[in-house]
Amino acid sequence: MTEVERLNYDVVVIGAGGAGLRAVIEARERGFSVAVVCKSLFGKAHTVMAEGGCAASMGNANSNDNWQVHFRDTMRGGKFLNNWRMAELHAREAPDRVWELETYGALFDRTADGRISQRNFGGHTYPRLAHVGDRTGLELIRTMQQKIVSLQQEDFKETGDYEARIKVFAECTITELLTENGRISGAFGYWRESGRFILFETPAVVLATGGIGKSFKVTSNSWEYTGDGHALALRAGAKLINMEFVQFHPTGMVWPPSVKGILVTEGVRGDGGVLKNTEDKRFMFEYVPEVFKGQYADSEEEADRWYTDADNNRRTPDLLPRDEVARAINSEVKAGRGSPHGGVFLDIASRLPAEEIRKRLPSMYHQFKELADVDITKEPMEVGPTCHYVMGGIEVDPDTASSSVPGLFAAGECSGGMHGSNRLGGNSLSDLLVFGRRAGLGAASYVSELKDRPKVSQSDVDAAAAMALAPFDPPGNGVEENPYSLHTELQQSMNDLVGIIRKAEEIERALEKLGELRERIKRVTVEGHRQFNPGWHLAVDLRNMLMVSECVARAALMRTESRGGHTRDDHPGMDAQWRNKLLVCSATPGDNPVVPEIGIEVKAQTPLRQDLLELFELSELGKYYTDEELASHPGSPA
Ligand code: FAD
Repeated sequence: MTEVERLNYDVVVIGAGGAGLRAVIEARERGFSVAVVCKSLFGKAHTVMAEGGCAASMGNANSNDNWQVHFRDTMRGGKFLNNWRMAELHAREAPDRVWELETYGALFDRTADGRISQRNFGGHTYPRLAHVGDRTGLELIRTMQQKIVSLQQEDFKETGDYEARIKVFAECTITELLTENGRISGAFGYWRESGRFILFETPAVVLATGGIGKSFKVTSNSWEYTGDGHALALRAGAKLINMEFVQFHPTGMVWPPSVKGILVTEGVRGDGGVLKNTEDKRFMFEYVPEVFKGQYADSEEEADRWYTDADNNRRTPDLLPRDEVARAINSEVKAGRGSPHGGVFLDIASRLPAEEIRKRLPSMYHQFKELADVDITKEPMEVGPTCHYVMGGIEVDPDTASSSVPGLFAAGECSGGMHGSNRLGGNSLSDLLVFGRRAGLGAASYVSELKDRPKVSQSDVDAAAAMALAPFDPPGNGVEENPYSLHTELQQSMNDLVGIIRKAEEIERALEKLGELRERIKRVTVEGHRQFNPGWHLAVDLRNMLMVSECVARAALMRTESRGGHTRDDHPGMDAQWRNKLLVCSATPGDNPVVPEIGIEVKAQTPLRQDLLELFELSELGKYYTDEELASHPGSPA
């Protein structure tokens, strides 16, 4: 029998980024015992890396802002493929979630009259991002950790035990979710330091594991983003949606090679930075797409006036949604107008005084100085697209964050729907506060209504342990595969064949490669023991990366149009017949238990509620919707 440390909790939250921590707070506030598990150190998550800010229509910088404007911007950014109920809840609740953070002790930058300052970002009509310089995520995490400590102090007063209701399990990776009759019964994993196994017996799991960027070669994401939550959910029987939509942030560092992909915040452009090609031309004016014509400035003079007078001028096309800017940069480089290292120039030096740049963008200043020996107060940065965010994720009920598996909830980047085909900058931090809270609440309500708790079976525990240990003793007939080589091959294929611009024959080649890798992964072999063994950790994570990569590639092949974070060279236009269709991935039992087969089905979206539909002009909707869908709009000819 496998030797395992066994623990019992009402709710287990997997992931200690913003979504996870907000879920922990909510479930604990409802009186439940909560374990929070993270594979990195507590506090080291993507949320802590977030720079630009958190979008919420508080109206501090422009009193015309409100939730309806934010909702409209989010739907436009997602090209109307968003789950509209999620977009509605998000826009309505984001301001309260930001103000609530202040009650936990957050210190945002202020306006001259002492309110929370809000900055411009791509696709947002008004300055909307609450921020702390360019280190906003750090403040979010610091604040929520502080709130958790204060809750633990309350628990200590009551019970004499700080960890009576919240306990942190850091550097602990969950490798499998366990179910009984289809309901969640537990989560199985291992301590990364010792390699010892751990089992959480629990009726409710909240997945808050973030994204999938490590499947791509050039990415702003760090080592934890291996799509674990996505894959855990699939293997437990839940479904993923929108996996074809992957966001390539337009501005990642391109030089030196060791830092390629590291993010350059959109805040640089929000604060006045402009994109230029080698001819010193502000090229974004050439790339305003038809659907956004009329909403963006068409001269440099108007674009510059907009920074100080947004009510009487249209915004700069440097701040078009990310998918548009990334494609524009790609085209400039392809046309031979790129910078020496294959990007374009981002110039803030000629736009703001040096002192102001260092004050507003301290991290960017240090990042370029230390990593590239570039002084951004004196010279332009070189930037290019980098894989940044996955819009696709676990399909959830918008109000409760529950998946189709009873007891399984998801929030933050690992959930899908909210951002449609493309996320607006700043909408992730607000998403994870709004839906992290809802997931904690959803899990708490589920547990309180349970009549009996599902049981963990010993055979499931033994199977999970055997799967985790397989790389130490693979059935390889003497042929061994190295996890690092497989990972490099996977990243290269996804980058080259399912990257920013896609076409059928390349995606098919990627699928062939993925098929080969799923066979080779069975023979992955690691040396040494379970203690401190990074090769083993990667071998375990590779299963997940392969599963999610297959979802991305299969959905990308099926969607024969271009929309948001999915650009098909062979189907360049947006097709209204595809707008309300979701591609739903599920794991189908096959003969490969290591990396199960992925099936995809097409599902129709729920039509937009009438009052929300009427927030848009018919002329705008006509660019996205079919005539039949618009028949109920009051502006529609009878
Ligand atoms: P994360 O914060 O990444 O947390 C994931 C957690 O899951 C981690 O604790 C990890 O250890 C844990 N985990 C993963 N797998 C396992 C497993 N198997 N077992 C146990 N634990 C596991 N968005 C904005 O809105 N505004 C910004 O300004 C902004 N800037 C960004 C800058 C950078 C450089 C990056 C990379 C992203 C930025 N984003 C921004 C996006 C945003 O930060 C992320 O989408 C968001 O933080 C995701 O939060 P999360 O809670 O879903 O996941």
